[in-house]
Amino acid sequence: MNTIEKFDSNIMHTYGRYPLVMEKGAGETASDENGKTYIDFGSGIGTNSLGYCNDNWVEAVCNQVKTIQHTSNYYYTKIQADFAEQLNRITGYSAAFFGNSGAEANECAIKLARKYSFDKYGKGRHNIITLVNSFHGRTLATLSATGQEVFHNYFFPFVEGFINVEANNIEDLKAKLDDTVCAVMFEYIQGEGGVVPLSRDFVDEIFKLCGEKDVLTIADEVQTGVGRTGKFLAGQRFGHKANITTLAKGIAGGIPMGVCLADEKCKDVLSKGTHGSTFGGNPIACAGGKAVLDYIESGDHLEQVREKGEYLKNKLLAIPEIIAVDGMGLMLGAQLKEKNAAEMAKAALENGLLVLTAKDKLRFLPPLTISYEEIDKGIEILKKILA
Ligand SMILES: *Cc1c(COP(=O)(O)O)cnc(C)c1O
Repeated sequence: MNTIEKFDSNIMHTYGRYPLVMEKGAGETASDENGKTYIDFGSGIGTNSLGYCNDNWVEAVCNQVKTIQHTSNYYYTKIQADFAEQLNRITGYSAAFFGNSGAEANECAIKLARKYSFDKYGKGRHNIITLVNSFHGRTLATLSATGQEVFHNYFFPFVEGFINVEANNIEDLKAKLDDTVCAVMFEYIQGEGGVVPLSRDFVDEIFKLCGEKDVLTIADEVQTGVGRTGKFLAGQRFGHKANITTLAKGIAGGIPMGVCLADEKCKDVLSKGTHGSTFGGNPIACAGGKAVLDYIESGDHLEQVREKGEYLKNKLLAIPEIIAVDGMGLMLGAQLKEKNAAEMAKAALENGLLVLTAKDKLRFLPPLTISYEEIDKGIEILKKILA
């Protein structure tokens, strides 16, 4: 049996996969088992933030594996403390909770928001507003939070207490933000929903109304965070700091980690025994995360993300088949004139370029470390397949 046959006969078929066995990577280039190479404009859905096997990251992770790979959260570890302190300093948050995925980070945020409200106002103020076309994860609570009907099948009953508001519709927000609501949860740029940024007016209104009513803001920055948009948090590009921000995907450079960050007002809500995770804050993941933060702090890398993002965007817009490009920094979505995005992603792959799709767009989330030369190479491939 070859790898694909073995894989398919032993693993649940929850993904539509390309017939390609990825073997290794270096920098921004991945190689399959036949030695064919690919420039990576997807970085494993924005996860390999420093590309493949970045030297400093490898060293930090390997050193940690050789020192202590895990201990229970009944004890303290230096690496978790160091990483959390650095993350809080960079983001301006007061306390972190570590889990292992974006969904878990959001679960933590949902629990935190409900408990904040219960502690202060008692029962009946448990609803969370989420946006139509959002994506918050695959667990039952985060699926329930996800504002896309296609996900609301099979798994009934879903978790109660989520109210959907149309993105960028201020009237809808005002109408639904009543006394039963404890939080508004949103992505500044809807990622899985098709790289759709929220309007500044709408974001301003969320913060204004929530501030007036002591309703918490939860920014799901699982995809937009960790420098992706050219600031550490996309919220910084919108001029806002949510009470709670969640991170995952790129935070540890390719090792599973989810983070729920709480501000001063929310930092003590989840008290002893109210939440936990066996693997959360695992030393190897924290070492990977610390290497990512060290990279980001070691120069003007995020300024470069903004510049490279503009460069990539302009190159994309110069391709006739691309009619619009949305997003910020190195999180971009290209709207195609006539061609089908999924078919184009397949054609790109055949030509040595990995790209993602989101709804009917081609989506680009290259490593933050990508060079102009590699951007150019990728663009050449896109020009060819979109001609
Ligand atoms: C990917 C994603 C999630 C889910 O993260 P997992 O690690 O797959 O659980 C949640 N929210 C957003 C915005 C995402 O992009």
